[in-house]
Amino acid sequence: MAPLNILIVGCGIAGSTLASFLLLSEGMPAHETPKITILERAPGMRSQGQNIDVRGAGITIIRKLGLEGAVRASTTGEVGVQWVDDKGAIWASIGADRTGKLSTPTADIEILRGRLAELCWLRSKDISESVQAQGGKGIDFIFGDCLDHIQQDNDQVHVRFAKSRREMRYDLVVGADGLQSQVRRLVWGASGEEDRVKKLGAYGAFFSIPRIASDTVHRQWFHASGRRNIMLRPDQQNKRTTAFMFVVNEEDTRLQEVAKKGREGLESQKDIMQEYFSDAGWQSDRVLSEMRKTPDFYYDMIAQVKLDHYNKGRVVLLGDAGYCASPFSGMGTTLAMDGAYNLAGALSRHPDRPDQAFEEYETEMRPVVTRAQKLFPGMPRIFAPETAWGVWVLNLIVYLIQLSGLPKILFKYLGPPANTVPVKDYGFKTLPEWSPEQSEKSTKS
Ligand SMILES: Cc1cc2nc3c(=O)[nH]c(=O)nc-3n(C[C@H](O)[C@H](O)[C@H](O)COP(=O)(O)OP(=O)(O)OC[C@H]3O[C@@H](n4cnc5c(N)ncnc54)[C@H](O)[C@@H]3O)c2cc1C
Repeated sequence: MAPLNILIVGCGIAGSTLASFLLLSEGMPAHETPKITILERAPGMRSQGQNIDVRGAGITIIRKLGLEGAVRASTTGEVGVQWVDDKGAIWASIGADRTGKLSTPTADIEILRGRLAELCWLRSKDISESVQAQGGKGIDFIFGDCLDHIQQDNDQVHVRFAKSRREMRYDLVVGADGLQSQVRRLVWGASGEEDRVKKLGAYGAFFSIPRIASDTVHRQWFHASGRRNIMLRPDQQNKRTTAFMFVVNEEDTRLQEVAKKGREGLESQKDIMQEYFSDAGWQSDRVLSEMRKTPDFYYDMIAQVKLDHYNKGRVVLLGDAGYCASPFSGMGTTLAMDGAYNLAGALSRHPDRPDQAFEEYETEMRPVVTRAQKLFPGMPRIFAPETAWGVWVLNLIVYLIQLSGLPKILFKYLGPPANTVPVKDYGFKTLPEWSPEQSEKSTKS
């Protein structure tokens, strides 16, 4: 049987993790491993982005790829969360749990999303090169393009690249292209998107700003009246501070309209953030003025993706594209990595029966996704009071909870459930620790 010819759309955390494991089946000769193409819309990898955490099953999976050391060497340095008011007074402070037993808001591993995606990509490139050296096809990376047409028959998926206009055929297509997945739109139909993408009534902007002396190694979380939030978080790798501003508002349709414009709507997205946050208080003036100059502004709605099935024929969705749980869940990275691992595992067990592989993948993932998408009761409204009085009460509650010693119990039972996600054994090779330096050098030269 010829090796599977697979197109993965999206070179994010999920896409390149999947590609790596597809090439790591123990005992499979290199020439039998799949021929993989990864198609990424962005012109290249960016190492910045928002702060995300890696927990439980996610850590087990990066360890299997030999990436744990490299990931730990790239962390942001966040040591915990502080709740602050408009004068900068700290109402509560919760440190990161380093035992891996509690799901505290700051996890043991905090890293920028772009850096984690870059490490996963560099790792997959390295694995691919070693497979190619042994006679396999490995991975072909295509940056700066996307698909504008997908059609499938019983045996193959026919696609067209939007820019190059190339028409290609693959045995399988994996949509790992994030919350606003184009693969999902093209295959499941744009008209049903409103039902599949469940808005949480929150809209947010993420970007980095220059660090100043008063910025700490804590995440500082400020609640303003009008259901507005600002978070400032350390990024010790780039010596910057990352900002996350979000507003909870289900009535103002402009918040959604500007999100739909994507990168083209940058200025209107900044304008609406300016309008909402100009009188928010605390460090809003600084954050807004830096927002105008930042090189990495990103705005989107905060939503969850819910589908009846993760595949349609030979096209399957992975990570945020298929089951985004939202940044409020703290489970996005775990789902992306666990999904990639389970999909590669299922395909390695049924290389000639994608229908069976996809069924097995869904059976593994569905319960994990269901748990991940169950948000802390009342989220996101509970953390976004309407009035100044409501903000004061929230700060007081957080203060009293900390004083009572309850956080240990709360974060044992109510935090993100990543520590309880099982990681099955599919017989993949476990790789030794690996450093990206050599691969980075060869990319830059
Ligand atoms: C502010 C914020 C904070 C978060 N915090 C956490 C956290 O603490 N813990 C956690 O576990 N998760 C967190 N998440 C979620 C986490 O970042 C995502 O769940 C995770 O990155 C999903 O990985 P993915 O590979 O599925 O998608 P993505 O990381 O979105 O990657 C998708 C890739 O596809 C590319 N792409 C998009 N469209 C196309 C196209 N049409 N064609 C080709 N390529 C395309 C994109 O450029 C990108 O490279 C957070 C998210 C946000 C926004």
